[in-house]
Amino acid sequence: MSVGEPEIADVRFPTDRGDFTGLTAVVTGGASGIGLATATLLAARGARVGCLDLNPDGLRAPLLGIATDISDDASVRAGVATAVETLGGIDVLVNNAGIGAQGTVESNPDEEWHRVLDVNVVGMVRVTRAALPHLRRSAHAAIVNTCSIAAWAGLPNRALYSASKGAVQALTLAMAADHVREGIRVNCVNPGTVDTPWVRRLLDSADDPAAELAALRVRQPTGRLVGADEVAAAIAHLASPQSGAITGTVLGVDGGMYGLRLPPRPAG
Ligand code: NAD
Repeated sequence: MSVGEPEIADVRFPTDRGDFTGLTAVVTGGASGIGLATATLLAARGARVGCLDLNPDGLRAPLLGIATDISDDASVRAGVATAVETLGGIDVLVNNAGIGAQGTVESNPDEEWHRVLDVNVVGMVRVTRAALPHLRRSAHAAIVNTCSIAAWAGLPNRALYSASKGAVQALTLAMAADHVREGIRVNCVNPGTVDTPWVRRLLDSADDPAAELAALRVRQPTGRLVGADEVAAAIAHLASPQSGAITGTVLGVDGGMYGLRLPPRPAG
């Protein structure tokens, strides 16, 4: 290439069609919450979407549900193979499935540490490992990992969960470095507290769900929970071919929880 020529041969993007038109996406945990919102949005923007989930039964066309347990390597390989056969490849991988854990370092036995890290961290590794050969064939390959505000901020009673998400954030950057020269972009989102079935389950189990919800709302400077659709929009932004220059980025979707410091609210 000589100096003066544009470095990107063709920077036109479809504006009348969705930016994911012609692309295929795999979303783990795509049957609920953030994953379902993401799968739905990617499909609306033109992608063929497969959802790898423990419980895909509620999914309807155009989303393709594929029963997969990301803590089982054989299940992951079979799930990814089914997605590739049915959809015709993988351009976008959203590593979103995850589970919660509560308590300090004293609260959980080794088995629980291994179980949560196995799903939240190694699960991501398994799915990525199986998807990489297919991503390498894509001209618009992108991986987006669902991380958490817990990777950035010390939250009480979340030692194990935070350790898992800290690992996801570091893994995201390492993967971005490993695969950038293969044309595969890797980024993650760090949501604050998102209104999903997961958080509703947590609220239901609280002694005073209304007080707990109020406390979660006030923790975020926007004064409300994040919407699953808002996280989906951030994931789609990072996954889109229009974001071809974005890799190794951690995008907060946290209502300002990490970056802002507000004075206490005036009484009344
Ligand atoms: P959710 O419970 O509503 O959905 C999670 C989905 O993952 C479910 O459909 C579940 O069946 C699936 N899943 C769980 N274990 C699996 C496994 N072993 N194999 C395959 N699928 C499995 O949860 P959500 O709130 O949408 O959370 C999704 C992701 O977002 C998680 O990684 C979570 O850590 C992260 N996150 C959530 C919040 C929040 O406040 N909800 C905040 C930050 C990050």
